[in-house]
Amino acid sequence: MWENNDIGKVLVSEEQIEKRAAELGKQITEDYKAVGRAPLLVALLRGSVPFLAELIRHIDLDIQYDFMDVSSYEGTESIGDIKIIKDLDTSIKGVDILLVEDIVDTGRTIDTVVKMLKHKGAASVKVATLLDKPSRRINDMKADYVGFEVADEFVVGFGMDYNQKYRCLPYIGVLKDECYAGKEQ
Ligand code: 5GP
Ligand code: MG
Ligand code: MG
Repeated sequence: MWENNDIGKVLVSEEQIEKRAAELGKQITEDYKAVGRAPLLVALLRGSVPFLAELIRHIDLDIQYDFMDVSSYEGTESIGDIKIIKDLDTSIKGVDILLVEDIVDTGRTIDTVVKMLKHKGAASVKVATLLDKPSRRINDMKADYVGFEVADEFVVGFGMDYNQKYRCLPYIGVLKDECYAGKEQ
């Protein structure tokens, strides 16, 4: 692996992520099997891609997946309204959807997307997120499946970026202070 000196501390290791994704995949399998349905996984680009890939290895159902890009996130603070940059290619009328997110922070993104998908006629919408930052929530959004709860710190790795960097790290960490020096946060 390329040598990375920008991470100040590791919050969640590669092994922890793998173990937790397996647990969540098993739970998701059981929950949907119990109602005799298989969800369409809708992953929000780009941060959720590694989590989606890890999760689907452990979901023992005839699932499909699709992508949406709805970000309006620049730097480390959420700004403005949510825009649809890429919409789904799949029709979702009557479909059970499992949204896959990297992190639920204020909850604004996921809340808006859930409402949008329900409005389009989805039969049900559930949320699986790798990370949850409940201390930052501005609404009552609760994910159905949560990998790990994290404190109010800006994290990178396993899909999550800082100005598009660090997404490919196999673990989740916090950047050293000097990595933000002279850059907007
Ligand atoms: P929300 O709408 O819940 O405030 O933010 C959702 C999006 O903001 C996440 O899907 C993620 O892309 C981005 N985000 C929120 N917190 C963090 C963080 O700590 N690190 C990174 N890299 N992105 C974050
Ligand atoms: Mg995201
Ligand atoms: Mg981002």
